[in-house]
Amino acid sequence: MNLKPLRVALLGFGSVGSEVARLLVSRHDELAARIGVPVQIAGIAVRRPRGTAHDLEPALFTTDPAGLVTDGDLDVVIELMGGVEPARSLLLAAMEAGACVVTANKALIARHGGELHRAAHKHGVDLAYEASVAGAVPLLRPLRESLAGDRVNRVAGIVNGTTNYILDRMTTSGGTFPSALAEAQWLGYAEADPTADIEGYDAAAKMAIIARLAFGVEVGPDDIHREGISAITPRDIADAKAENAVIKLLGICERTDHGVNARVHPALVPRDHVLAGVTGADNGILVEAEASGELLFRGPGAGGLPTAGAVLGDLVAVGRNRAAGTSERHLPPTRHLPLFPMERVGSRRSLSMLVTHRSGVLSDVTSVFSRHGISLATIRQDVLGAEATLSLTTDTATDAAITTVVRELRSLPTVRAIHRSIRVHDQDRAR
Ligand code: NAP
Repeated sequence: MNLKPLRVALLGFGSVGSEVARLLVSRHDELAARIGVPVQIAGIAVRRPRGTAHDLEPALFTTDPAGLVTDGDLDVVIELMGGVEPARSLLLAAMEAGACVVTANKALIARHGGELHRAAHKHGVDLAYEASVAGAVPLLRPLRESLAGDRVNRVAGIVNGTTNYILDRMTTSGGTFPSALAEAQWLGYAEADPTADIEGYDAAAKMAIIARLAFGVEVGPDDIHREGISAITPRDIADAKAENAVIKLLGICERTDHGVNARVHPALVPRDHVLAGVTGADNGILVEAEASGELLFRGPGAGGLPTAGAVLGDLVAVGRNRAAGTSERHLPPTRHLPLFPMERVGSRRSLSMLVTHRSGVLSDVTSVFSRHGISLATIRQDVLGAEATLSLTTDTATDAAITTVVRELRSLPTVRAIHRSIRVHDQDRAR
């Protein structure tokens, strides 16, 4: 066996990068035993010069990441800077120089995963990114390896811990979205600019990565239907409670006979559903496969230390290959399944609207649904003086049909406002 140390460069020394460096130092002997050769840190790129930490030599730090990755004698580059550029160019340069790549960068892999896999194949190096989805929760490797002999039909779950924390706080405290967001920011679960999390961009990037691995198709983040949680109100949460459900931001991707659909949106999850029990900032993902049935993956989806654990798992796998002089096969997308449009995805809907309280209103409203072939499973009316709140649950209807119904309801003179139109989970399927 080649006993030359595994030379590793770190790009980024923030929340995740500094934990990776710390573990590389503190678990040096354990990692060496698992990989088969010792790990040597060759350099650490940061944007702004800084003092050292974790007993690292100050000379290891550099503000020249391009110089570091083209060093020529690197075995692995671990990218933990974030963002698409310069990360993409640096990783392409690193692979061209013969280094394997480990990254936690979901934005980069979601947009440029295909290009990076082709580069890894061309240069005969490994590309690993387990930490880019669901932090510490092992999901990508099981999809790629453990389930490689099975047929995955659906992956659905909570892939963003920030929004799960916010919705959970709104549920337990009855508070507003802004106050739960402020609390998440104070605790470090949400960024100063929370847009990527609360508007579902982060979850969409992760679903693009999952869909590619689960179904072997090229899916980009822009192919994914995306709705965030910033419009969720305490009333929505209270209504969900009344229906014995909770609201979760779900990422779902599924394969049908007609193609692949991937989407991110809030949904009502019945309290007895396993995903309703995924609380706090945790992630929880259900994988449905033909032979294996339903598999649940759950745990901390973010945080410097948990994410660093996943990065080191990749480093051990890549390092073992490197020490054995081999690399993983990079299979190109094998199927050419079309993308299945969101308009045709069917779900049950829970709607709530404020109407004028007078005779005939109920039949005005229900006739709009029946005109579009949508039957109603439940109707509740709460009267408050001259107004009433109508809460309805539909049987399964397509997104397109619900959009038309909501537009027509809004044009009725007796419908004053539609407070809520939210999908009910586990009866939503692409058809
Ligand atoms: P972070 O705390 O903001 O750290 C980023 C690091 O990269 C900093 O050391 C920064 O240096 C350095 N950096 C940024 N741009 C650079 C450039 N152009 N040249 C050199 N250095 C540069 O980020 P993080 O939270 O550790 O996240 C790192 C990656 O892990 C991201 O892709 C993120 O999506 C992913 N991830 C994070 C988590 C998590 O819980 N944090 C979970 C899963 C995945 P300066 O400090 O000098 O600016």
